[in-house]
Amino acid sequence: MDRPVVTIIGAGVAGLACATELAARGVAVEVLERAAHLGDGACSWMAGGMLAPWCERATTDEIVARLGEPSIDWWRQHFPGTVSKGSLVLTPPRDAADLTRFASRTERHEWLDADGIAALEPDLVGRFRRALFFPDEAHLEPRKALVALAAGLEARGVPIRFGVDVKPSVAGSDFVVDCRGLAARDELPDLRGVRGEMVVVRTSDLSLARPVRMLHPRIPLYIVPRGDGIFMIGATMIESEERRAVSVRSAIELLNAAYTLHPAFGEAEIVELGADLRPTFPDNLPCIRRNGRVLHANGLFRHGFLLAPWLARQVADALLLETRDADIPERRHA
Ligand SMILES: Cc1cc2nc3c(=O)[nH]c(=O)nc-3n(C[C@H](O)[C@H](O)[C@H](O)COP(=O)(O)OP(=O)(O)OC[C@H]3O[C@@H](n4cnc5c(N)ncnc54)[C@H](O)[C@@H]3O)c2cc1C
Repeated sequence: MDRPVVTIIGAGVAGLACATELAARGVAVEVLERAAHLGDGACSWMAGGMLAPWCERATTDEIVARLGEPSIDWWRQHFPGTVSKGSLVLTPPRDAADLTRFASRTERHEWLDADGIAALEPDLVGRFRRALFFPDEAHLEPRKALVALAAGLEARGVPIRFGVDVKPSVAGSDFVVDCRGLAARDELPDLRGVRGEMVVVRTSDLSLARPVRMLHPRIPLYIVPRGDGIFMIGATMIESEERRAVSVRSAIELLNAAYTLHPAFGEAEIVELGADLRPTFPDNLPCIRRNGRVLHANGLFRHGFLLAPWLARQVADALLLETRDADIPERRHA
């Protein structure tokens, strides 16, 4: 391994995706992470892992779908555990109008009747009359995906140094990519945290092949199957930077959604309750900002896994031009 040309600070999904993209393009890179272990203290560890660009159209700018669509292939390439079985959107019969409204704000979906729902998800037979199916969407287990990215970097000889708490201004290499998530607020004052809470449960009485969204007036709730009877139920979205455990109210709402989807969730075991703050810019879109030799790559909001591949490509494109110049300094004076 050559002396790193690029130091990446932060081993969340942004940092690991940037390192993967740069290493794949032949740039000598290292990753510095302040936690002792992968995922400790990273917002990425709490994510649902939905790769759902078209569903997201219901509540976000169309650019999220456009930039997020190619990510599904990126994840398939870098994480074989990416599941491409689409996603389902449901609502209890009394809220049928919400489903029609959701359909009008999104694209790339098909309407399903009760038989169509049962054909895709046999355990939901007889429970819902209509659903929207987004066949091109995908999902992944974020923790396994991060482990896979880290292993891929290790296989390429990219060091990930844990327990290193560093500021971009003092990192020693030619270029620095600041992927510290919300911790980068010391240099990005307009970054804010948007609180998200989730619950993980286990039940062997039910199986789902794909994520299911339950339309809800306040929380866009979803249930993501993680295999082996594990389901992640997420996620609240609260304009608050309080770092405390999941509130009773949020837990009730999340668990209620699961119970509405299927009563088998009533007997499920609660395996984990988790909360974190999503790093978010005022327009809720990610961006890359340059400050001398430092690139700040941040603002993934609720689209960490969906938009990290895009962010990584932008960073690699920007740095590749720079590192070429750095390798051949004469060119600057030609
Ligand atoms: C409940 C919940 C559900 C979500 N669901 C989804 C979803 O389904 N799909 C999706 O795409 N997104 C989802 N998100 C959003 C996603 O998790 C975030 O957008 C994403 O994790 C942000 O990644 P990041 O790498 O920027 O930040 P982080 O994951 O927070 O990573 C930052 C890293 O930098 C390290 N660090 C900080 N300071 C320093 C320092 N000084 N030196 C060294 N290292 C440092 C931290 O320890 C951390 O590891 C969800 C978020 C939450 C909370």
